[in-house]
Amino acid sequence: MPSDDDFRRRVRSFLAQHGPAEGWLRDEHGRPPPDDAPNEVRVARARRCLSLLFEAGLGAISWPQRYGGQGLSNRHQVIFNEEAAGYALPLDIFIIGVGMCAPTVLAHGTEQQRTRHLPPLLRGTEIWCQLFSEPQAGSDLAGVGCRAEPDGDGWSVSGQKVWTSGAHNAAYGMLLARSDPGSSRHAGMTMFIVDMSLPGIEIRPLRQMSGVARFNEVFFDSCRLDQDAALGEVGQGWRTAITTLMNERVSIGTSNPAGYGHPASVLAAEARRRGRIDDPAMTDRISQLIIRERITALLGKRVTEALLAGVQPGPEGSLAKLSGTQVSKESAALALEILGSEAVAWDAADSLAASWATVQCSTPGLSIAGGTDEIMRNLLAERILGLPREPKIAARNEPGGNL
Ligand SMILES: Cc1cc2nc3c(=O)[nH]c(=O)nc-3n(C[C@H](O)[C@H](O)[C@H](O)COP(=O)(O)OP(=O)(O)OC[C@H]3O[C@@H](n4cnc5c(N)ncnc54)[C@H](O)[C@@H]3O)c2cc1C
Repeated sequence: MPSDDDFRRRVRSFLAQHGPAEGWLRDEHGRPPPDDAPNEVRVARARRCLSLLFEAGLGAISWPQRYGGQGLSNRHQVIFNEEAAGYALPLDIFIIGVGMCAPTVLAHGTEQQRTRHLPPLLRGTEIWCQLFSEPQAGSDLAGVGCRAEPDGDGWSVSGQKVWTSGAHNAAYGMLLARSDPGSSRHAGMTMFIVDMSLPGIEIRPLRQMSGVARFNEVFFDSCRLDQDAALGEVGQGWRTAITTLMNERVSIGTSNPAGYGHPASVLAAEARRRGRIDDPAMTDRISQLIIRERITALLGKRVTEALLAGVQPGPEGSLAKLSGTQVSKESAALALEILGSEAVAWDAADSLAASWATVQCSTPGLSIAGGTDEIMRNLLAERILGLPREPKIAARNEPGGNL
């Protein structure tokens, strides 16, 4: 196994060699290049990045070799992340597959499922999506109603999913469905691995206010799955889903200390350029943002260190996620304050200027994706602060329900 120093040198040399030619460089303020390419170009760019990483022995660093990884330690992955943070590697498309689905397949899959699915998933040749949320089941995921009914030696799936990021690019999806029709809430659900090209699946794009359509509605109409499509035990889908959700919050919470807004340094430069930096109220807000960025980075580090010590992700992931969301939203609000109308209207030829408006349109969604702010606060209150649980509201079909 390479020493930390040797490995760091290898990563640095890889990034220095490919960064400029591949367009992975950030600008002098740490901003990534504009992300406005058509979907096919984004996918091709992401796949090329991953394939260059694998060629250099830097793909799936801490994953076991038998599943296509490099077999190195989590420590090596952290070193890679530290070095890559200075660049803008276009790997967002793989966050759901590699960050959430792959750990779930590893934890709950059969050996056959792992060897079949993990290598192409980690290499990005097969993109995955997460089919959990439904119109009536978001925060309250135990309300999932999409049905998987036994059908001969397999299953027949009918129902609707919504907000499915990247379903239009996905070869496979991880589907949470109700497999026991008489069950309610957390019991009677099963997780399935779904080939997204099967008959009976319709994917309809949902256009977001930023203008892009990166998530979808997915309709299942008597879609037939084989018996071995179940991931984890039949009826234990909730347990399997928790693994995905924990990894989701860790992925989001540790991804970028400046969140998805502009870093405080960019806002400070913009305030200076516009003669606003001497306003004490402005200096105070920028200082507060710097402090929050630092806290978010430290929370992310704490989660990473727990993972390095072999501790499974817990509520710390929710804390890091909530903190990152707050930083992003404060950065967006401050940008609006500093730039005024230029944060929402810009010269069409100036693609960098568009990034201000993109931030305004995309940060509100951070309070919702991967668990809402309110749900994160509930989790922290109950699991970290030890406060009493929320009063349970009876479902409509339970005594006291439908009040
Ligand atoms: C950008 C983006 C990408 C997404 N990608 C995916 C994806 O790939 N796959 C997927 O399955 N889903 C995805 N989602 C869906 C996301 O997980 C859900 O939107 C989220 O869980 C909230 O569910 P909901 O929209 O049904 O809102 P609801 O659960 O209906 O919540 C509505 C409001 O009520 C509040 N609320 C609900 N329950 C409580 C409570 N107990 N206490 C206090 N307040 C409460 C919420 O905080 C929220 O403000 C994505 C969402 C976004 C925004």
